[in-house]
Amino acid sequence: MRILVLGAGFGGLELTTRLSDALGDDVEVVLIDQGEGFVFGFSKLDVMFGRTVADAVVHPYRDLVKRGVTFVQTTIRSIDPEARRVETDAGPFDGDLMVVALGADLHPADTPGLLEGGNEFYTVAGAFALRDVLGAFTGGRVVVGVTSTPFKCPPAPSETALLTHDFLTDRGLRESSTISLVMPLPVPIPPSPGASEALLTAFAARDIEWMPRRLVRGLDPERKVALLSDDTELPYDLFLGVPVHRAPAVVEESGLTVDGWIPVDPLTLETSHEGVYAVGDVTSVGTPKAGVFAEGQAVVVAEAIIARHRGQTDAPHYDGHGLCYLEFGHDQVAKVDVTFLSGQAPHGDLVGPSSELARDKVEFGTSRIQRWFGREWVTDTPVAD
Ligand SMILES: Cc1cc2nc3c(=O)[nH]c(=O)nc-3n(C[C@H](O)[C@H](O)[C@H](O)COP(=O)(O)OP(=O)(O)OC[C@H]3O[C@@H](n4cnc5c(N)ncnc54)[C@H](O)[C@@H]3O)c2cc1C
Repeated sequence: MRILVLGAGFGGLELTTRLSDALGDDVEVVLIDQGEGFVFGFSKLDVMFGRTVADAVVHPYRDLVKRGVTFVQTTIRSIDPEARRVETDAGPFDGDLMVVALGADLHPADTPGLLEGGNEFYTVAGAFALRDVLGAFTGGRVVVGVTSTPFKCPPAPSETALLTHDFLTDRGLRESSTISLVMPLPVPIPPSPGASEALLTAFAARDIEWMPRRLVRGLDPERKVALLSDDTELPYDLFLGVPVHRAPAVVEESGLTVDGWIPVDPLTLETSHEGVYAVGDVTSVGTPKAGVFAEGQAVVVAEAIIARHRGQTDAPHYDGHGLCYLEFGHDQVAKVDVTFLSGQAPHGDLVGPSSELARDKVEFGTSRIQRWFGREWVTDTPVAD
């Protein structure tokens, strides 16, 4: 059996690790990604705020050694879901089964003025470049803003506002600065009233202006104002934006998407094409676009493939569960245990924040790198005692 796995992000890495651990050389897994290496979303914030360096958070794919898995670094140019075949810069590949884990592409250029007059912290390049931009900032009006929905990791803009507060405080710039957070959501984390309440309290305590239910439609770099979806304007000196998200063009062109994302069976993650699965940000399965959900979905697909290989009929169904960590700043981290089940209102409980959970979050990252890449990840992210 040959399994094509498209994308070596959170979903693709978890899936191929599970297949290798369970089946080794009994199946042939081809993992394709165009990138040099994997970067956790939260590591982007660590680099941007000077808590670690870029070299420490890029995990090169050349380190991937998994029995039964061949990694191919190349760009996928077309996907034929019917034939379970892809065309790439390294030639064609086909499989008996195919898993699409290509994530969401980011389009900063789609927001007028964002590239010319602002910054975005969602791409690796954007977040890494912000380290210098923030380092050179001498204070003023900071706006953290979301430009469209859906967007990855809904807590990330809130975390960014809190970390900006710490960053400016540590540099003696907080008194001469304001921080505003423009979000499309009514509360920071709608499925978790507890987490939303804790964040709103933290914003109030730090004098961070919470501006819900609106988007940033564009920037006017000349006048240094953000143009909001409620037809108002917000002046800024430093704009930190969440750019427009779309499924990669190669996925849209494959015919797999409906309304921009790949619909899947919410229990099995199978698409409308037999033997073709999709996991993570590229789907419209109904969970937030976050690594923990991509990982949970990958586990279910891996179990289905393992069961199929062993001639078994029983495989677990996806339960929509994920555990998200939430940075409050000052090395305080909380966690939210959220479950999204179709037909039911999502719900989630908050634990923390605490420095113990900050250590848990570090362990979350290092354990993934250990399992996926088979090596230690010594992080230099400071954790309070
Ligand atoms: C600032 C920030 C903070 C975040 N914090 C968290 C957090 O704390 N917890 C959490 O769970 N999530 C977090 N996330 C979200 C998380 O990073 C993503 O949701 C997660 O990576 C999605 O996994 P995925 O496997 O679906 O896609 P990805 O991890 O994005 O992987 C997709 C892969 O497909 C590859 N690819 C795309 N197109 C092609 C092509 N044509 N050819 C070849 N390869 C291609 C890409 O190179 C990429 O490696 C954060 C995100 C950001 C931006």
